[in-house]
Amino acid sequence: AEELLQKSDKLSLVGQMAAGVAHEIRNPLTALRGFVQLLQSQTQTADHQQYFQVMLTELDRINFIVNEFLYLAKPQAVNFQRKDLNMMLLDVISLLDGQAILNNVQIKTDFSSDIPYITCEENQLKQVFVNILKNAIEAMPTGGNIEIQVKLQDRNQVSIRFIDQGMGIPPERIPKLGEPFYTTKEKGTGLGLMVSYKIIQEHRGNITIDSEVDKGTVVEITLPV
Ligand code: ADP
Ligand code: MG
Repeated sequence: AEELLQKSDKLSLVGQMAAGVAHEIRNPLTALRGFVQLLQSQTQTADHQQYFQVMLTELDRINFIVNEFLYLAKPQAVNFQRKDLNMMLLDVISLLDGQAILNNVQIKTDFSSDIPYITCEENQLKQVFVNILKNAIEAMPTGGNIEIQVKLQDRNQVSIRFIDQGMGIPPERIPKLGEPFYTTKEKGTGLGLMVSYKIIQEHRGNITIDSEVDKGTVVEITLPV
């Protein structure tokens, strides 16, 4: 079952909420983190060391979530440039190589060589690729293969497909993808896909998710060239 996901109304609502709250949380958070770090460095006992470490990890988690929200809220200072898509994907793959190896996951590529440069905000688009590739790795707890295909769909569109052999997504859950905080992971945030939808929308592209339980998932992004 293939479903086109359109989350724009949900996104704008969340964006408005985020604008008020996220920014105010960040400064006290920075102060907290600094003092926890200071206390940790002055502490002698191993027990306390460990407590401070837990505090730092959790503070970082809050920080990460707040930053994702700020991203949604803020009108981006956009700097679109023409970039080589295949190079961007290779960068992202090398970024996640360590995590893939740790999880017994092999990432293969099938890139067309005739892909024209695309006009994009490079870091944002890379963020989307990271989010999707991470999800693919996390969907395969016992390892497997991920294939990333880049094809020219027609003269105006390029298609990027992330194909995993993971646990898949039940059809009734597909509409929930991209909702804020929808996660099935113990340590998940449920923000990765939401941010990805927003970024792809800003690039006038589309994300389509096609999945079969116990077989795997295909996430396809199309972008104008
Ligand atoms: P998170 O990864 O923090 O849970 P995301 O927004 O990235 O948040 O993903 C939301 C949910 O979508 C995941 O918790 C998972 O249930 C599902 N999902 C996303 N990608 C995949 C995938 N490739 N395979 C299986 N499930 C996926
Ligand atoms: Mg994720």
